[in-house]
Amino acid sequence: MLITNLKKKNKMSKIKIAELFYSIQGEGRYMGVPSVFLRVFGCNFKCAGFGMPRGELSTEAEEISKRVEFFKDYKELPLVSTGCDSYASWHPSFKHLSPNIDTDSLADQICSILPKKTWQDEHLVITGGEPLLGWQRSYPDLLNHPKMEALKEITFETNGTQKLTPEFKEYLSDWNDWNRELTFSVSAKLPCSGEKWEDAIKPEVVCEYEEVGTAYLKFVIATEQDFADAECAVAAYRKAGFKGHVYLMPVGGVESVYALNNRAVADMAMKAGLRYSDRLQVPLFKNEWGT
Ligand code: SF4
Repeated sequence: MLITNLKKKNKMSKIKIAELFYSIQGEGRYMGVPSVFLRVFGCNFKCAGFGMPRGELSTEAEEISKRVEFFKDYKELPLVSTGCDSYASWHPSFKHLSPNIDTDSLADQICSILPKKTWQDEHLVITGGEPLLGWQRSYPDLLNHPKMEALKEITFETNGTQKLTPEFKEYLSDWNDWNRELTFSVSAKLPCSGEKWEDAIKPEVVCEYEEVGTAYLKFVIATEQDFADAECAVAAYRKAGFKGHVYLMPVGGVESVYALNNRAVADMAMKAGLRYSDRLQVPLFKNEWGT
């Protein structure tokens, strides 16, 4: 009944799409799995602190935004070595590169990039930006589309700050009955991101994700201080009742930065008995847009 109502309400739902591409998932639980990446536009954060000395913020995205007229699509955009590596998926200067696409056309486009034009063993990653902002209202239309029926595994890559709306939560609660596996890959932002702890660490939000799917935490680490922050954050999530796995992942949107600390982060993960997540997209594809 609820699904029918949502379908009626969202008949012409549109989603603002930054990127749509087929690749190998490089991080977390589904590392190595062929996946369609749907990158939606918009984020509540900027994460300008990544790769910077503590307390300093990157200006790389701002500098690129001053030359925006030189870039016709995402593939032409420069990579950054500091700050958010998907900056164009939320920075207002790049908004025009992200079209609003209705969910019928989007389902067609998604299937057209699958190797067999229909879902087999591939996994759908809805990422961003932050995918759990306002687009929650449009996902049922897309995910209920007949062309998406054979899709069995879906991950939301979220920063873990956005509560599920009651309607979307109820919709997701039915997924077990449809043999769909739902995962929340929660990249909670530590102070090294440049975001404030009280804005970024929301244990009660992530515990709510566990009511409808599997959730895990993934922390980006560059230094021993980040590791200490991650341990503090994990304690806060556990206190709130979080049961999922925890991954440590090296900082580094470009290979030179990533290669500097991946081994050290693997050692920290082993020492703490936590999981290590690689960023396979960096060594495999240089983290280029569309990979
Ligand atoms: S939450 Fe993710 S997409 Fe948003 S600014 Fe931070 S790193 Fe970028």
